[in-house]
Amino acid sequence: MAPDLRLLSRTLVARAVLERHDRWDRRTLRDHQARALARLRSHALAASPYYRRTRAGLENAPLSELPVLTKDELMANWDDVCTDKSLRLADAEGRLLQAERSMLDPGRPWRGRWWVAATGGTTGRRAVLAWNRIEWAQVLASYARVNDWAGVGVDLRNPVRTAIVSSLNPTHQSAVVGASINSRLVPTLRLDARTPVKSLVSALNDFQPRLLVSYASMLGTLAGAQLAGDLHLSPAKVIAASEVLPADGRAAAQRAWGRDVVVDTYAATETAGIASTCEQGRWHLYEDLVIVEAVDDDCQAVPVGASGTRLLVTPLFTRTFPLIRYELTDAVRLEPGSCPCGRPFALLGAVEGRTEDTLTLPGAAGGVRVHPVVFHTALESLSPDGWQVEQTDTGLVVRLAGRATQDHLARARVLDALTELGVTGLQVDVRLVPSIERTPLGKAPLVKAPPAS
Ligand SMILES: [Zn+2]
Repeated sequence: MAPDLRLLSRTLVARAVLERHDRWDRRTLRDHQARALARLRSHALAASPYYRRTRAGLENAPLSELPVLTKDELMANWDDVCTDKSLRLADAEGRLLQAERSMLDPGRPWRGRWWVAATGGTTGRRAVLAWNRIEWAQVLASYARVNDWAGVGVDLRNPVRTAIVSSLNPTHQSAVVGASINSRLVPTLRLDARTPVKSLVSALNDFQPRLLVSYASMLGTLAGAQLAGDLHLSPAKVIAASEVLPADGRAAAQRAWGRDVVVDTYAATETAGIASTCEQGRWHLYEDLVIVEAVDDDCQAVPVGASGTRLLVTPLFTRTFPLIRYELTDAVRLEPGSCPCGRPFALLGAVEGRTEDTLTLPGAAGGVRVHPVVFHTALESLSPDGWQVEQTDTGLVVRLAGRATQDHLARARVLDALTELGVTGLQVDVRLVPSIERTPLGKAPLVKAPPAS
């Protein structure tokens, strides 16, 4: 398909604007946020029946006092949250279904003006969103910022050959983004993370990407293939996407391709890019594009430096679907201080995984909530090819993939860590498996809770 030139030129302009924001001071950034938020709120009240109905009397309330918008609430009120009367959820769902069945080019705009994507939906209902050309250019520019901060330049003499190992599902935002940017400037190879490693290695060897973007859970495997001499890549950067990058995967990637090669990103379908690492290796929030509040289970702000259990996001550039204090169930920690790179954006200490991945295990005094970081700490060094913890009716099944051999030590470490937290009477069964099974979207969840009853 010929590239959408109006989209590409808008994206280039949006990208140049974002580059200027890197040189702002903190005060200019704050002023920009306040103005952009005021415009977003007045647009939502004027054009969205949902916001008009539910936010009456709160026109002048500070952001922190506005109600939270959950995914369920968005999906239950989709047509009314939407500010364009011509868009209906039933039609957007129809478009997604059509995309899935015929594998049509997801980069081509629907009805000539909308780009549509759905969230992965591993838990509960998936969220569906649509962006117009102006908004979609901002989405693309926010993802391009990852490359810009990583120092991967692009021009016609120096195209960024990009390989993306993720999902080929055409309803997934990464597929829509990949199809939208595929051009002479960014020749893109998209691979399904569920493909056997041998086929991935062969396709990547043929393509020779300058930029390798991969589900974080696949990076360790690909780095292992490089270290074993099967994969022969020399990427300028390796971008860990969509999942938390396990420490062992990071270490393997650094051994395979160099110490400064790994770039971390944090994004969501609803917001596009939220944060990525600068050349100093520190995470910065994209505060000019999205307001981020780290909160606890009651949606109360947690102090900088403390871990929240979820975050509330307010993307500042969307108008078709204003999302004001939209809940994402990721645990993140904001960090105080500034970075030698000089960017004005606040620091993100860590993305600690999805709150859904927190397990409730039996204890003497009732259920004990166990955060996924407990298993990261216990298992990462023992299982370089991946691991998974699944809660079953009788206890926990721990799977160690590939080259792992220390099942007894793994069991002891998990039991020790859980006992320390007060978990009692739990059966822990450790199994050595060839590989971790991937979901239909190609992800390999580290922690699996039992299906909600
Ligand atoms: Zn920095």
